[in-house]
Amino acid sequence: MKKLALHWKILLGMLFGVIVGVIMANIDGGKEIVQDWIKPFGKIFINSLKLIAIPLILAALITGVADLKDISKLSKMGGRTIVTYIITTVIAVSIGLVLVNIINPGKSITESTRTEMVKNYGDNTTKYKAEAKNQKQTGPLQALVDLVPQNIFKSATSNRNMLQIIFFAVFFGIGLILIPEEKGKIVKEFFSGFNEVILKMVDLIMLAAPYGVFALLAALVVESPSLDLFKALGWYALTVVLGLMIMIVFYNMLVFVFTKRKPSFFMKAMSPAQLLAFSTSSSAATLPVTMERVTEHIGVEEEVASFVLPIGATINMDGTSLYQAVAAVFIAQAFGMDLTFGTQLGIIATATMASIGSAAVPGAGMVMLVGVLGYAGIPEAGLALIFAVDRPLDMCRTVVNVTGDAAVSMLVAKSVDKLGEPNVKNWDDNYEEGN
Ligand code: ASP
Repeated sequence: MKKLALHWKILLGMLFGVIVGVIMANIDGGKEIVQDWIKPFGKIFINSLKLIAIPLILAALITGVADLKDISKLSKMGGRTIVTYIITTVIAVSIGLVLVNIINPGKSITESTRTEMVKNYGDNTTKYKAEAKNQKQTGPLQALVDLVPQNIFKSATSNRNMLQIIFFAVFFGIGLILIPEEKGKIVKEFFSGFNEVILKMVDLIMLAAPYGVFALLAALVVESPSLDLFKALGWYALTVVLGLMIMIVFYNMLVFVFTKRKPSFFMKAMSPAQLLAFSTSSSAATLPVTMERVTEHIGVEEEVASFVLPIGATINMDGTSLYQAVAAVFIAQAFGMDLTFGTQLGIIATATMASIGSAAVPGAGMVMLVGVLGYAGIPEAGLALIFAVDRPLDMCRTVVNVTGDAAVSMLVAKSVDKLGEPNVKNWDDNYEEGN
């Protein structure tokens, strides 16, 4: 396996995972064997990635902001980042809406399938509805209040609080810029060294990536629901996947037009992060690898990547917003509702907000979908309809979320003249043992 490029190793791991999963699902007691003896390794792999997410954001952002040396550069970059993120999200939702209105996947769901699914999956969706309800019981400015933590150590205890960590890190970085250089030097050097260590840890974890994704996919296959359901939801799933594919093409065009980097270059550089996003369904878990690919392989300078990517992982979810738009209209169609043009425009706004609010963890998009449904007056019971295929779609939309962040980081880097030469020479060397 030594000479093979990393993305091939990961792909092979995924393939073996699926094969082993299918075989074990058909053997008596096979499911339990996978759950007891293979799944834990997948969990260990994801945990080790999540383990470094918060230290990485902290160190990378503090170093990144401090490197900017003046506040006006920070606000310029911040403004461009947020605006580009919002534009790509609105485009994603719009693509989703156009497709779902053309394909009309909900119309192919018969009334009996609908009733059966609501009956079978109704219970499973209670958890999502309860979680969404918790989030709804707050005022309109709660998101802003939540941004500012009372205690940074408490925030650092959960990966869900990434925005609070980002807030602290940017604030700390600003403080660092404003104090005399000789006093800040030691702090800056400390965080910069810390950052290097974390990136080296990413390299080490990635050595285990092929085995980690093997375990994750084998467990996913033995635990997945029956194929019949997938068939009933085929058109819906296809609509989402088609939309997501269009988004990938769109990013490649953006990257090419603004940075002149070819699609083959961009996709090759990003493939390990994309495969990981697919296997883990979590932008947060993938963040360390996205960061490493974008800086070390694409050439985005660290001060841009360490600012744009952690923010993107938390607020920019184009795949999620596209999926929420398609899912909302699909459910409405399945329940025989006709949504007016005005309501659909409202879906653009709510899905954009909902994707910003979605945590970068598996299934988060579905929780926030409850809000979109509520806005458009679509029955929440409809969540049960899409539940069966949510995980595979979550895997696909996470790939788009991660790719979108990377593309935007390149555009922002280009606009502030921080897109360096790509490191194509030793494309995979970083991951070889002893390096
Ligand atoms: N799993 C997605 C992510 O981490 C969020 C979602 O759509 O559920 O990016």
